[in-house]
Amino acid sequence: MERRDFVIVGGGIMGAMMALTLAESGSGSVLLVEKSYPGAGSTGKSGAILRQHYSHKVTIGMARESLQWYSEFQDRYGLDISFHRPGMAFICQESDRDNLERNVKLQQSLGVDTSVIDSAALRELEPGGSFSDSECAAWEPEAGNVNPVQTVHAVLNSATRAGAEARIGIRVTGFLRDGDRIQGVQLDDGSSIAAGMVIVAAGPWAGQLLKEAGVPLPLQTIRPEQAFFEPPAGAKEKRLIYGDLTNGLYWKPELAGWTRVGFLDMDEDAVVENPDHYDEGVSGEFIDACRHRLSQRLPHYSLSPSWGGVGALYTVTPDSHALIGPVPGLEGMWVVSGFSGHGFKMAPAVGKGVAAAIGNDQPGKCDVNFFAPDRFTRKAPIEVSYGYGILG
Ligand SMILES: Cc1cc2nc3c(=O)[nH]c(=O)nc-3n(C[C@H](O)[C@H](O)[C@H](O)COP(=O)(O)OP(=O)(O)OC[C@H]3O[C@@H](n4cnc5c(N)ncnc54)[C@H](O)[C@@H]3O)c2cc1C
Repeated sequence: MERRDFVIVGGGIMGAMMALTLAESGSGSVLLVEKSYPGAGSTGKSGAILRQHYSHKVTIGMARESLQWYSEFQDRYGLDISFHRPGMAFICQESDRDNLERNVKLQQSLGVDTSVIDSAALRELEPGGSFSDSECAAWEPEAGNVNPVQTVHAVLNSATRAGAEARIGIRVTGFLRDGDRIQGVQLDDGSSIAAGMVIVAAGPWAGQLLKEAGVPLPLQTIRPEQAFFEPPAGAKEKRLIYGDLTNGLYWKPELAGWTRVGFLDMDEDAVVENPDHYDEGVSGEFIDACRHRLSQRLPHYSLSPSWGGVGALYTVTPDSHALIGPVPGLEGMWVVSGFSGHGFKMAPAVGKGVAAAIGNDQPGKCDVNFFAPDRFTRKAPIEVSYGYGILG
């Protein structure tokens, strides 16, 4: 039987990034198995916003380390991932200013270029926008984004150049085991691969896969919706990224020239039982609601054609933070999933953190213990600072 030191289940941004870091750090032989195509899960439809606005030292450090890594990717690997830095503003009510300021101060203490601005400064930043006197914002000029599809392919390509192997179009159907020790994976082509360590980075499929292995973890798959609008020609808009806590909305410029709009609240998103079959479209009602909320901020969106929208998948946990670490009760298996709609920006730090914990990489800003999968049974969830879990 074939054997690898590491078998990674899933070719999303997490699987690709771990394949790269494990291979580059000379941690051992690496095989990534992807059932469909790179980015077939959450990754391919990601907004891929790279912000550092978080409320924990660990997550801010990870977002910062990752932003730097993405910004240097093209020079280092020679592959384009369409990295841009439009900057991002988080708008909230003055009544929430204390919380915002506390988080901004923490970010500043960790080196993030960010500040709290009042409504007058917000109007200067976006002269065509409508902001009330009772609002303020955290402004982060360094915030950026990438093209998620280009990025996952570029990272996987770099991983294979570094010595990792990727098998695309092959599904992991189960695990080889000796009691509580996982010894490898079974594939849908009938073969099996022995492994020193299996890493489940299967995104929306991870919960079911682990349940079948006898370890139900608090991972749920939900279906957020996104709408796309084309701003009218000549619209006076700065094309920044926004998180709008007042209206529960985020929007960002897409590289195609459209604007992507989605809701911050994940509680309304439908639960998806079978991620292999879910509705990838959105309703006219949703598009209308997005147009209405966005045009309250930027009036020209009441005149914008919509290019429809897309239903996507998030893998969420009860505290909206990922599960990263050994699968409780099993040896030889890690889970890296549950990024709750905000994982793309963290992937470089996660790759490094995992490769340091189970391979030969140097530790970075991702303290994997912070994300221990058993934290809910220990009644020690990560605290969330905002009403919207997706903001972390
Ligand atoms: C609409 C949307 C917008 C988002 N916006 C942002 C954002 O702006 N910023 C941000 O930081 N994050 C954002 N996110 C979140 C981010 O995209 C995800 O956290 C991240 O992509 C998760 O990557 P992953 O590799 O864990 O999972 P996935 O990308 O879901 O990858 C899992 C892969 O595993 C494969 N797989 C599953 N089961 C098996 C099996 N049995 N055998 C083999 N392969 C298998 C799947 O085919 C899939 O390709 C967004 C997500 C969505 C959906």
